[in-house]
Amino acid sequence: AKRIFSGIQPSGGLTLGNYLGALKRFADYQGKGAETIYCVVDLHAITVWQEPEKLRHNTREVAAAFMASGVDPEVSILFNQSQVSQHAELAWLFNTVARVGWMYRMTQFKDKAGKNSENSSLGLLAYPSLMAADILAYHATAVPVGEDQKQHLELTRDIAAKFNHDYGVDFFPITEPMIEGTATRVMSLRDGSKKMSKSDPSDASRINLTDDADAIAQKIRKARTDADPLPGSMEGLKDRPEAKNLVNIYAALTGENGDQVLARFEGQGFGAFKPALAEVAVEALAPITRRMTEFMADPAEIDRILGRGAGQAAAIAGPIVERTKDIMGMIRSR
Ligand code: ATP
Ligand code: MG
Repeated sequence: AKRIFSGIQPSGGLTLGNYLGALKRFADYQGKGAETIYCVVDLHAITVWQEPEKLRHNTREVAAAFMASGVDPEVSILFNQSQVSQHAELAWLFNTVARVGWMYRMTQFKDKAGKNSENSSLGLLAYPSLMAADILAYHATAVPVGEDQKQHLELTRDIAAKFNHDYGVDFFPITEPMIEGTATRVMSLRDGSKKMSKSDPSDASRINLTDDADAIAQKIRKARTDADPLPGSMEGLKDRPEAKNLVNIYAALTGENGDQVLARFEGQGFGAFKPALAEVAVEALAPITRRMTEFMADPAEIDRILGRGAGQAAAIAGPIVERTKDIMGMIRSR
C-alpha cells in the first residue's frame, strides 16, 4: 500500500506559507487508500536553538494546527518525532551512507548557517539525513511538501539509492515529492526574494495562523509591492515578485489559478487588491485559528494523541529499522 509522510517543525508559530504549501493539503490525502503519517518534527527544530518551554508549547501548537486543518488522528497517525526513537537511529545509519559534500550543497543549510557556518550545529548540517530517516523508516513513497524541500527530497532518494546499491538490496523505496498547487513557495511580505518562514526574525514578513483579522489586514496593507496596476494575466507579473506573490496567495486561498484572479483585478492597483486579499485570507484562516485555540485549551489531550500516534508509528518503523541493521551486518539477538 502507498504511504504518505510529512512533517512540520515546531520551530515557531505556523505561517500562511506552512498552511498553503503543506498543511492545507494533508487532510485531502486521508481515507483515499494511502496510509497517512504526519509528524511534528521536534528533533529537526533543535538543529537551531529552541527554548525548552517554547519547544513544548510549539510542539502542541503544531499538533493543534494539523488537527485544525482536518488531520484526524483516528484516520492518520499523528505524533512527535522524538517519541519514536527509530528516527534518530535510522538517521545515524544514514549518516554513514550520505556524504559530507552532499550536505554542504543544501541551500537550506547555507541559508540557515549564514556566514558563520563553522559555528552552526552539526545537526543543522546533518538535517537531510534525519529527514531521509523520517520518510524511509516508514518506506513512505510520497511526501507532500513546499517547493523549498525539493532539494532535501532529492537527497532522500540519493540516500535510498546508495544504501540499496552499497548493500546490494532493493530495500528502500525511491520517494516521490508531491509539490502541488499555486502556493508551493509563498514569499516573505517584506522581501519578494525570500520565502515566508516561521523562523524569520521579522513578524511583519509573515502571516501567522494565530494572527487575528486586524493583524492580517495590517500586514497585507504594509506588504511590499510596486506602484503599477495589475495586468490581465500572470505572464505580466514575471518581473514583479512581490505582486506575483500576493496574487498567488489569493489564488491558493480561493482555489483559483492566478489568471482567473487577475481577470477580475486587471487594471486595478494594490489599493483595491490588498483589502480583497485580506478578506479572503481572514475568511480562510479564522476557522483554523479558532479550532487551534480550542485544541490548545486541552494540552493533556494533545499529549495523549501524540503518545498514541507514536506507538502506532513505532510499530511500523521498528521492524524496518531492525531489518536495516540486519542488512548492514549488525547482530540482532535481543
Ligand atoms: P523554518 O523557518 O523553521 O524552517 P518553515 O516555515 O520553513 O520553518 P518547516 O517546518 O521547515 O517550516 O516546513 C514545514 C512545511 O511547510 C514544509 O513542507 C515546507 O516545504 C512548507 N513551507 C515552509 N515555508 C513555506 C512557504 N513559504 N511556502 C510554501 N510552503 C512552505
Ligand atoms: Mg523550513
